[in-house]
Amino acid sequence: MDAHQLPPNEKTLLTHELLNQEYRHRVLEPRRSHMHELISTMLSHRTNHKDEEKAFYTMLERFGDWEGVMNADIDELADAIQTTRYPGQKAPQIQQTLQIIKQERGEFNIDFLEEMPVEEAMAWLTKLPGVGVKTATLLLLFNFKKPVMPVDTHVFRISQRVGLIGAKVTANKAHTILLEMLPPEPEVLYNFHIHMLRHGQRICTFFSPKCEQCVLNSICNYYQDVRQKGIDKAA
Ligand code: SF4
Repeated sequence: MDAHQLPPNEKTLLTHELLNQEYRHRVLEPRRSHMHELISTMLSHRTNHKDEEKAFYTMLERFGDWEGVMNADIDELADAIQTTRYPGQKAPQIQQTLQIIKQERGEFNIDFLEEMPVEEAMAWLTKLPGVGVKTATLLLLFNFKKPVMPVDTHVFRISQRVGLIGAKVTANKAHTILLEMLPPEPEVLYNFHIHMLRHGQRICTFFSPKCEQCVLNSICNYYQDVRQKGIDKAA
């Protein structure tokens, strides 16, 4: 059997191993506070990291703290985060999220998620305005070291091309499918996620993936199809 015909669970583990060798294992340590990660991840939707950071710090400089952001004039808040995509949608979502946290917890603090079972934490987070499965899983994995699998555009694209998930699987469903095929240790899931992200930015890009340079090409359905078509054409 050719490597690309292996079952998805075996391919998923191989993908993890090959990318780990390529990009090296990284220790999972939270890079910013829980509130910072939550609001920054909301800002990051369809926005690059530099513009997301600019929006975050402009917002806090202009309004001082979370209380100030929550009570800011909505147009001024949208203006402060204008380096992100959809600032007009994100501004009210951020304010409503801050209001819910303040009302429920009495302060701008989500440390309680640490003690909460994963499913409960996912349910609590995804009821916040502007917080979907991707944002919730990123926060729970990166900051709380919970065993979840964030599926962003890179994880999704590579998983489909290699054949870890089917062509018709949605991003939300991919989260569960990939999770079931990987070891449940948060550090493994973290490395899988960040390596797929890096690989998607460098090699398996949306347009013109660099398949000849890719460490996954022996197990990749997309590459085998493209190569096969090339052979058929040449014959
Ligand atoms: S072989 Fe090509 S399509 Fe497959 S994962 Fe690598 S870059 Fe992406």
